[in-house]
Amino acid sequence: MKALITGISGQDGYFLSQLLLSKGYEVHGVLRRNSSMTHGTMELLPPDVRSQIIIHHGDITDENFLSNLLQSEKPEELYHLAAQSFVGYSFENSQSTYDVNIGGTLNVCNAIRSSSTDTRMYFAGTSELFGKPLETPQNENTPFFPRSPYAISKLAGLWTVRTYRDAYKLFMSNGILFNHESEVRGPEFVTRKISTGVARVHQGSQQPIILGNLSAVKDWGYAKDYVEGMWKMLQYDISDDFVMGTGESHTVKEFVEEAFGVIGIRLTWKGQGVNEVGLSEGGRVLVKVNRDLYRPLEADNFTADYSKAREKLGWEPKVKFKELVRIMVENDIKLIQRK
Ligand code: NDP
Ligand code: GDP
Repeated sequence: MKALITGISGQDGYFLSQLLLSKGYEVHGVLRRNSSMTHGTMELLPPDVRSQIIIHHGDITDENFLSNLLQSEKPEELYHLAAQSFVGYSFENSQSTYDVNIGGTLNVCNAIRSSSTDTRMYFAGTSELFGKPLETPQNENTPFFPRSPYAISKLAGLWTVRTYRDAYKLFMSNGILFNHESEVRGPEFVTRKISTGVARVHQGSQQPIILGNLSAVKDWGYAKDYVEGMWKMLQYDISDDFVMGTGESHTVKEFVEEAFGVIGIRLTWKGQGVNEVGLSEGGRVLVKVNRDLYRPLEADNFTADYSKAREKLGWEPKVKFKELVRIMVENDIKLIQRK
């Protein structure tokens, strides 16, 4: 079996490429050029794993590149993960977010339609589509209410996939995946920002962790479980849309508390809103809030109802909140100790 992954150098690409190689797939990845010729999370793969991945250098906004690639490779499966994936950035950079997330997805769909109609495609949709959820928990029938340029771009991507699936009878499935994190999560995402901050405090740093909205409620799972779900979607009898999450929700503040708990620090909180601080038992300020890190609009109160994925695909998240936080903090401590 041959699989092509766009976004192979991101968090999910890291776990998905390893999963597919372990199943005996021939794995191809799309990698865009940057001036330092660095390869993102691919550089963290064991060398023997990395050397098995066949790289195609290109950008998903380049229609010609994708159409030639699909024409020559005709993969059985295509996991379309590439995106401008950071919600905060999308408020300042909506145009480029739309270009990559909408234009790039359209290019992938058109390349399949014109050159490789037997390819099964996975599209990386998101719980951000629910924005300000109209019901809790959220499932495949919950109305969408996007609250950021990122969410709008993903909504367009999801509907492009639905339309191509129905109009041209293509096997294209949408994952509506809730936040999933890991030890290779990008440093700007709140979970990784917290885990690296806590690891630094453990190593003696005096710098507090500076965050935005501590009250945001998310459903956080472990990325390794979610790539298994992507693969299961493409093995299913028909193409469809599936919600995947843990069904457990927590605030950012709870993530911070749990993370400090891993290094034996019990936080207490003082003040309100932007004046709130997290203190150690000895009264040292370990967490501060900065208004600039608040988003113009918040999307939260997420809790996944993943019963459809459980029933139809046999998918279950294995790692829950506490274990996720522990994995991330312990890994960041190891990384700092190695330096
Ligand atoms: P990352 O941000 O870690 O990875 C994004 C990947 O897309 C990177 O490999 C990046 O390459 C690549 N990329 C971005 N723009 C382009 C482009 N123009 N051409 C080619 N490649 C490009 O995201 P994740 O791995 O966390 O997420 C995977 C997908 O799942 C994304 O689409 C994301 O929006 C979606 N998603 C993620 C969730 C999560 O919680 N992680 C939740 C729900 C959906 P480079 O290394 O060069 O930047
Ligand atoms: P997202 O859910 O894909 O937007 O993932 P993020 O990790 O970027 O954000 C998760 C939540 O954490 C959002 O509700 C943010 O408003 C909130 N948050 C609070 N402080 C921060 C921060 O310092 N950085 C980021 N990225 N998010 C923060």
